Amino acid sequence: MIRITDILDKAGEYLSSEDVEMIEKAYIFSAAVHRGQVRLSGEPYLTHPMEVAGILADMNLDSATIVTGLLHDTVEDTLTTLDQIENAFGKDVSFLVDGLTKISKINFGDREEEQAENFRKMILAMSSDIRILLIKLADRIHNMRTLEFQTPEKQQFIARETIELYAPLANRLGVNWMKMELEDLSFKYLHPGEYHELAGQVMEGRERRGKYTDEVKNIIRKEMLNYGMRCKVEGREKHFYGIFKKMEDQRISFDEVYDLTAFRIILTSNKEKKCYEALSVVHSLWKPVPGRFKDYIGMPKANGYQSLHTTVIGPHGERVEIQIRTRAMHEWAEKGIAAHWKYKEEEGTSKEGEDEQIKRVRDLLEVQQELKDPREFMQNLKLALFPDEVYVFTPQGDVKAFPKGATPIDFAYSIHTDVGNQCTGARVNRSIVPLRYKLKNGDTVEIMTQQGHHPSKDWLKYVVTSKAISRIKHWIKTEERKRSISFGKEILEKEFKKHSLKLNQVVKADEFKKICKEYTINTIDDLMAIVGYGKLSARQIVNRFLPGEKRKVVDVALEKAKKKSTKPATAGISITGIDDVMVRFAKCCDPLPGDSIVGYVSRGRGITVHAANCSMVQEIPPERLTDVQWNIKEKHAYPVHIKVTCSDKKGLLAEVSSVISTKDVNISHANVDITPEKQAILDFEIEVNDLKHFNELVSELKKLKSVLFVERIRGLFLKQEKKRIHGKEG
Ligand code: MN
Repeated sequence: MIRITDILDKAGEYLSSEDVEMIEKAYIFSAAVHRGQVRLSGEPYLTHPMEVAGILADMNLDSATIVTGLLHDTVEDTLTTLDQIENAFGKDVSFLVDGLTKISKINFGDREEEQAENFRKMILAMSSDIRILLIKLADRIHNMRTLEFQTPEKQQFIARETIELYAPLANRLGVNWMKMELEDLSFKYLHPGEYHELAGQVMEGRERRGKYTDEVKNIIRKEMLNYGMRCKVEGREKHFYGIFKKMEDQRISFDEVYDLTAFRIILTSNKEKKCYEALSVVHSLWKPVPGRFKDYIGMPKANGYQSLHTTVIGPHGERVEIQIRTRAMHEWAEKGIAAHWKYKEEEGTSKEGEDEQIKRVRDLLEVQQELKDPREFMQNLKLALFPDEVYVFTPQGDVKAFPKGATPIDFAYSIHTDVGNQCTGARVNRSIVPLRYKLKNGDTVEIMTQQGHHPSKDWLKYVVTSKAISRIKHWIKTEERKRSISFGKEILEKEFKKHSLKLNQVVKADEFKKICKEYTINTIDDLMAIVGYGKLSARQIVNRFLPGEKRKVVDVALEKAKKKSTKPATAGISITGIDDVMVRFAKCCDPLPGDSIVGYVSRGRGITVHAANCSMVQEIPPERLTDVQWNIKEKHAYPVHIKVTCSDKKGLLAEVSSVISTKDVNISHANVDITPEKQAILDFEIEVNDLKHFNELVSELKKLKSVLFVERIRGLFLKQEKKRIHGKEG
């Protein structure tokens, strides 16, 4: 069992006395709060954080890391709060403890293997400081070393989590010894039969192999000396899981694994070039096996590992695997990122401390950038410190990855299009959040749905995933098309009815199919949609369908009707979410550009635009109202009714009319009434460009001496319009 003096001694070798004091203080704190807690082994709980701190001290990590090792379970398992930690040990330590507490909630459980990478990424993303992950790995190492005290079920559970998540993370950080130990300990619990058989076989030949290992080492050492190259030669047994993997992958038996011992030449020099020189020494000594040479100096592994690997035919005709590396490369291979993770001794503010860390990682990245294939390594590192992804849990505990900025709507669409479309709200960590809430690492997200609910165009502002964007757009498009089809159908029905024809019979006629072909329209629905959009008029279709004679009569009638109409074109209106539908202006309120307006989705007659304050609007069921905006590109004349009350006087009509015409306003209709009180009431139907234009006219008219009031009149056709809405729609 480790003692606190062991930890302090180790730390004292490379840390200042203030640092060592801080570690001692953390020990006292941890002992106090964990007092009375016992591990399954029967030992006091405190042994666990102490062992973890010991591992971290062995790795020469900074004092905050070792202090956190001692405190890592306090917030999770005792009544200690983060504030208490911050008060006693500062922001840096409380930040690390907080990170570890959050990661402790990640539970891989019985997930499918495909989920493992997302879990690993989530842990990396939540380890916004790499020290958090190093402490977590040390924690896992000690838990694995003491796994025998757990129940068999827990052993399986923890061992699987270790081999799926933590061993690969240790490998990604380049901490080889951790990776190997985690793998071997997991192997022992996951495949106990194979483990013990393999261990027995390795033990059996160990003495014989020991002699052989010494022989090979001596030959190499002597030859290197002949060439004046200083180095250390190591011969190491491969770790059990490595041997097991090789037997599995290559489907070979234990006896066929030739390289149980791997040899390593560690050069005293730190020059890369010397590695290649050493390689030629080895190759002149023994014949290399073709295709077995790997240059991880020119092409480092994803985690930053560098070495030359070769296999040669050794002194007894056997295959020998040899790695060649400099001391610096060796340091990296053994300690990985931890080898680069050293802190300046002096106290800085916490902010500077963070900047310093980032700078160190950047330096590290720059070194890596000079290498030829550092892409994956860089991405991994970036993920830890500059996260651009966010990882969240489903209610079932699966992890899903999203780009940063994703919202519950993105989450909903990632589950299923229907879940997205029918999403009404979301709970994050059991509290209701707005749909625009930005997901955070480790959130558990639950989507509430309701059948019949549908997406809103506003959602496009909140989503970042392409799936959500395309599904929402698709829904809007489909909805537009549905509307257009039903508009088109009703318009066509009406138009054919004028000729006593029924649309559903007409569409069956060969003649009709021919027309579709001429317009290169594939289906009847397409035709309805095109008419609904207003790209083809119903009259065009009817004219095509009817024989010439009959058509002419109708055309004349329509021309007449057209001439009579003074309504402007429907240009100048845009409708939220809908393109090109039929639009017409309501007769009851004559909205002008500048008036606030609203659209009424009528059946078969497209959208009718009303002034927002039109009394008709109150009569319309809200689900049939839609947003419309003025979108004026060219000038149009819009009709408006105006009532001018004057004192009766000769030449009055001429006076008022001349003011109106100087304002460039067209009068389409005028009426004069004289009241018994000798007041003249002038009713005009005029055409103006917009509200501003109209208001200018009104103020000009008011300047006239005889003018008493000027009113804009709405609702001349109100009764008629009401009847239409109620009669048709019920
Ligand atoms: Mn722990």
